[in-house]
This record gives sequence, structure tokens and C-alpha cells, in this order.
Amino acid sequence: MAEPPTREYLYKILVVGDLGTGKTSIIRRYVHNIFSTNYKSTIGVDFALKVIQWAPEIIIRLQLWDIAGQERFGNMTRVYYKEALGAFVVYDVTRPQTFEGVAKWKQDLDSKVALPDPWGGGNIPVVLLANKSDLLQEGHGQPINHEEMDQYCQENGFSSWFETSAKDNSNIDEAARHLIQSIVAIE
Ligand code: GDP
Ligand code: MG
Repeated sequence: MAEPPTREYLYKILVVGDLGTGKTSIIRRYVHNIFSTNYKSTIGVDFALKVIQWAPEIIIRLQLWDIAGQERFGNMTRVYYKEALGAFVVYDVTRPQTFEGVAKWKQDLDSKVALPDPWGGGNIPVVLLANKSDLLQEGHGQPINHEEMDQYCQENGFSSWFETSAKDNSNIDEAARHLIQSIVAIE
């Protein structure tokens, strides 16, 4: 009997958030499973590819776009956001001011990118990442109020939120799976 044909999808995913929140570290952890504390901010646009066997006959190629140094300007161009199907907004749980950036990044996304026509042109799914959660465990920063975060996400149109650590490799796979699931559900 013939195997069912394999279907492949390419998803462009944006990773935005204030400088130093851990965007590059999250991508490197997710794609290459490495972490380093060397803070080297690159300038320009960078992207990494993660290939996922989503189901026996479905392969998803996640193209993760890293804004790489451009975040200091607080927004990105439409060209950069073009054809993205999902996004992560990242903040640093030890720096409350980076949470203030979250609303601004969400607003930037919603105003500049929409789902392609066949999908009705609504906002793309966005997942909020509360990163550096390993530092919370060490007693830095304020513990996260889960109910408040759930409510914040609901009120501000985030699909969900996850407490992540690029250092400890926690919850990044889960967050990515959730985002992919949200995109798959639209198709
Ligand atoms: P970006 O500017 O958003 O791309 O942030 P980077 O990925 O360059 O990370 C900024 C700094 O935070 C670097 O020194 C990282 O090593 C550190 N960092 C990133 N993620 C984590 C994390 O989950 N835990 C801890 N403890 N440090 C992190
Ligand atoms: Mg970076």
C-alpha cells in the first residue's frame, strides 16, 4: 500500500521584545539546544530554522525571525513582519520595565501584520513568554501572579503565556507547540 504523501508547511514566526529579554537565547536553545551568557547583540535580522515532524505525514518548518539589535527602536517595519503567521513576545521577569514593552510590541504586531486573505486577515496568534524564570527560582524579581497573567492575555489578545528559561531549557518546546497548534487550528 502506498504511504500517504508527506505535507510540508513553512511558518514564519517573529520573536520580539525589548533588548536583553532573551530572544536570541530562546531561539538558540530551541533550535540548537545551546545556551551561553556571552551577551553579544548582533545587528540586523537573523533567522533560524527548526524542522518538526508534527504528525506522521506532516512536517512543519518553523522559520524563527530574530530582530537582532533592531529592538532598541521599539518597533519594526512592515516589510520585516510580512507573511508572519505567529509571534512570541518576550519579557524578562526580573525587569518589570520590559513587561511595559510587551503591550507596545503586541500593538506593533497587530498594526503591521495580519493573517493572509484565505484566513480572513485577523491578527496572527501571539504567545507571551515570561523569560528567565530560573532567576525567579533563585529569588530575583517578583513571583508571577498566574491569574493576573491569564487575564492580561485574555484582555490583550495573547493566545497564551509561558514562564520560560533559555538557561534551564524550560517550557520553550511547550510554548512553541502551543503557537504551532494555534496556527494549525486556523488553517
Ligand atoms: P535579546 O537581546 O533579547 O536577544 O537577549 P539575549 O538572548 O541576548 O540575552 C540577554 C542576556 O540574558 C544574555 O546574557 C543571556 O545569557 C541572558 N539570558 C537569556 N535568557 C536567559 C534565561 O532564561 N535565564 C538567564 N538566567 N539568563 C538568560
Ligand atoms: Mg538578540
